[in-house]
Amino acid sequence: MVISVKSVTISQTHYGKVSKGSRMSDLSSVIDSLVTANRIVAHENVCDAYGHVSVRHPDNPNRYLLAWSRSPELVEPEDILEYELDGTPIDAKGRTLYMERPIHGAIYETRPDVNAVVHNHAYAVVPFTISETPLKPVMHVAARIGDEIPVWDIADKFGEETTLLVSTMEQGRDLAATLGDGKCVLMRGHGCTVAGYGLEDVVLTSIYLQVNAQILMDGLKLGGEVKYLHQGEIDARRGREGEQVGFSRAWEYFSRRAGR
Ligand code: MN
Repeated sequence: MVISVKSVTISQTHYGKVSKGSRMSDLSSVIDSLVTANRIVAHENVCDAYGHVSVRHPDNPNRYLLAWSRSPELVEPEDILEYELDGTPIDAKGRTLYMERPIHGAIYETRPDVNAVVHNHAYAVVPFTISETPLKPVMHVAARIGDEIPVWDIADKFGEETTLLVSTMEQGRDLAATLGDGKCVLMRGHGCTVAGYGLEDVVLTSIYLQVNAQILMDGLKLGGEVKYLHQGEIDARRGREGEQVGFSRAWEYFSRRAGR
């Protein structure tokens, strides 16, 4: 596969008009961006050996693109497979698949506005999945994570003997219901899932969810009360326009750091 476009804005490929002639190159550049997204989340320690990134198929909203069960740091364009929303691969190429692909399919099914999903176990985030202290924005660049981040507990509906992995569509849909119309959902004793309108959106949100968790934890360790961002401050920085300020700068920066 020849990939000529080094940096493509997913919001363009998903929201702009794509002529028939550019279809193949469009799919190639989406796959290229998905590989870059994988490398970034690995490089920034959002994902380690585990975790995954997907994007809705640019030509078919009932499918999504996701690697086979490979660590994000190692994902190459040829590792990207196509899936139905229920997690069925179009061609598994004999590969082992991520067990937790229902996370992706259920969110795409529930949220037509979502075009990309990251699932990860970022170590800084996990404490907030098991504590009563809420994970809320405390730093300006993290306003994008949203004002209320729900915590989904798999045991609430599926009992105390699961592996904690979201391995069925029923579990995925329950997670998607808890995500609601937000960007982030924490998963008790497990990690988190981030949904957004494009790859840049979910990658930056995942990074700053982790950064914000670390800073909040450090602030809590200093003792006394911490100050969260005010609602008006969060609102002022949210919405597509506010969030996209500096998008290409951040994408270029994180891509370069990740060796792309
Ligand atoms: Mn997981």
